[in-house]
Amino acid sequence: MEIRAAILPATGAALEIAAVELAPPGPGEALVRLAATGVCHSDQNAIDGTAPTRCPAVLGHEGAGTVVETGPGTTLVAAGDRVALSWAPYCGSCEQCLRELPQLCEAAWPAMDAGGLLDGSSRLSRDGGPLYHYSLLSTFAEMAVVPERACVPIAEDVPFEIAGLVGCAVTTGVCAAWRTAGVRPGDRVAVVGCGGVGLSAVMGAAAAGANRIVAVDLSAEKAGAAGAFGATDAVAWQGSAEETADAVRELTGGGVDHAFEATGRPEAMLAAFLATRNHGQAVLMGIAAEDAVLPLPARSIPRMERRVIGSLYGSARPDRDFPVIFDMYRRGRLPLDRLISHRLPLERIGEAFELLRGGHALRAVIDLERGMDDVAA
Ligand SMILES: [Zn+2]
Ligand SMILES: [Zn+2]
Repeated sequence: MEIRAAILPATGAALEIAAVELAPPGPGEALVRLAATGVCHSDQNAIDGTAPTRCPAVLGHEGAGTVVETGPGTTLVAAGDRVALSWAPYCGSCEQCLRELPQLCEAAWPAMDAGGLLDGSSRLSRDGGPLYHYSLLSTFAEMAVVPERACVPIAEDVPFEIAGLVGCAVTTGVCAAWRTAGVRPGDRVAVVGCGGVGLSAVMGAAAAGANRIVAVDLSAEKAGAAGAFGATDAVAWQGSAEETADAVRELTGGGVDHAFEATGRPEAMLAAFLATRNHGQAVLMGIAAEDAVLPLPARSIPRMERRVIGSLYGSARPDRDFPVIFDMYRRGRLPLDRLISHRLPLERIGEAFELLRGGHALRAVIDLERGMDDVAA
């Protein structure tokens, strides 16, 4: 079938809205009519080449919609199901899955890098030429064929735009607090970088009962705005990692138990590390450039029992964790609505990326259900 999609023709190029061909779902796959998709830093990394991505491609990996049709042998979802999409479907049987590390599934990552679905081939094409998937989803489009394991059914009362964000930014931040770090009541927390992922870590830490939550950002305004998500204090970047960490340590009586980093920049990672107290941990979520290195004051690692840990997709198990997040959202414990700062139609996706690059958007959501005329920015 022919669908409308935003195409990245080549690394560094502008996104282009065009008609493309989408083949029917294969075994274990579902055709999903997308309703909403978030615009994420990872998509920007794919556009500018920070994360090498096979092109031409249809980007987008933070979406939700309704299953229209399923391929042969599909058992997990059926036509009519409302679903949130997870960009990290897992096979359940590889060594990493058996180690209960589905976010590191050995079947999903190579397929993702190759730009196909799980069987290595693409359902997308344009004028008979190749067109690749992104993160096994490609949600900057009206429709997508995805692995059934990427689909997590959602209840009627969960808005699609919320479900879409849970598919990436929200889970990455909230579950970093819950699953990777294990924030406990009374813990002290800092979050460096107050975009969608950082604010989600703030919400996750607050819902887990953290006592102090210090939001840190280059922009004093963005750090301050984290108060609406549960942060108790705000620190604007002080000019160096050391000075910034000192400000956090001073506010928290000597440092935090968990310092989350959501920018991918080594100086922010260092600030997170230096903001920890005895036995504290820096939890690194931001994806750094391929050649980035992180020098740390080594002596304090054993002397203070400081730790540095990585968190990929919040160490989440989407089929377990998405429903928990939706439940907490319903009960008002995770104010996810506040993340959405802009709503735009697919035709204006370029503006959504301008807002993201300029640091003006918490989260811009592309509304795929409505046309250009009736979507308010
Ligand atoms: Zn993302
Ligand atoms: Zn696996």
